[in-house]
Amino acid sequence: MSHTVQQWLQTARQQLAQFVPPDEASMEAQILLMHVLNVNRAWLIAHATDNLTDMSITKVESLLQRRLQGEPVAHILGSREFFGLALKVTPDTLIPRPDTETLVEAALAKVNGRMRVLDLGTGTGAIALAIARHAPHCEVIAVDASTGALAVAQENAQALHLNNVQCVQSNWFAALPAHRFDLIVSNPPYIETDDPHLLQGDLRFEPISALASGADGLQDIRQIIAEAPDYLNAGGWLMLEHGYNQAEAVQQLLNAQGLRTVETIKDLGGQPRVTIAQWP
Ligand code: GLN
Repeated sequence: MSHTVQQWLQTARQQLAQFVPPDEASMEAQILLMHVLNVNRAWLIAHATDNLTDMSITKVESLLQRRLQGEPVAHILGSREFFGLALKVTPDTLIPRPDTETLVEAALAKVNGRMRVLDLGTGTGAIALAIARHAPHCEVIAVDASTGALAVAQENAQALHLNNVQCVQSNWFAALPAHRFDLIVSNPPYIETDDPHLLQGDLRFEPISALASGADGLQDIRQIIAEAPDYLNAGGWLMLEHGYNQAEAVQQLLNAQGLRTVETIKDLGGQPRVTIAQWP
């Protein structure tokens, strides 16, 4: 069956709209076709009435079927853009989210000179690599407990030619030598273990170890805050992403641990998303 670009997009959109909101369905149909044809959105618009080859249709239909089975777009494409960086993504890693760009912006606002930066639970390397790119004089250590994730972070660092990042396998601080940092950032798991969202959408396909953290979602955040003082220089910053309803709890934990200048920052959706604090 022959299809023009426009016809294929329309049928795909209708099928996707049974699972995702209409604007996302439209966007996802375009993304899948752009990927197969290796073209940009402007090309799709300019070539709306072109016929697709049988080969292209076969390829894009197989991607569409995977998406209709629920597989995340980032897994189908094998990549996701974060803070202007094209990052490889696999099922071993969390899929980088726009919310986390708030954490990178908060970090870059405090960075100056040759700071030592630590990213705990780096996953794809998203946060560490964005900081390393925009703060080239900083030395960034990116750790993850997962060897699979760490291999992806390493590959992303190499592909982006970022030589100021070192990837280390470590469960939070456990395998780090005793030296201190000027900035510690993390997007740890923070979802409650019994949160029904874990059984929906993209989250079903992401590592549970990157998402869920105990009954109240704060188990890992608690551990990081408890241990951070041993790894922070005087005046150094700890910056944590957290759930939209966790700001107060995270602020209390930071204050109780003796950190100061505690402040919560909202994400683009207006939700309290990142809390920062300074070791005196
Ligand atoms: N922000 C992600 C979500 O709610 C969770 C990521 C995380 O736990 N760090 O989908």
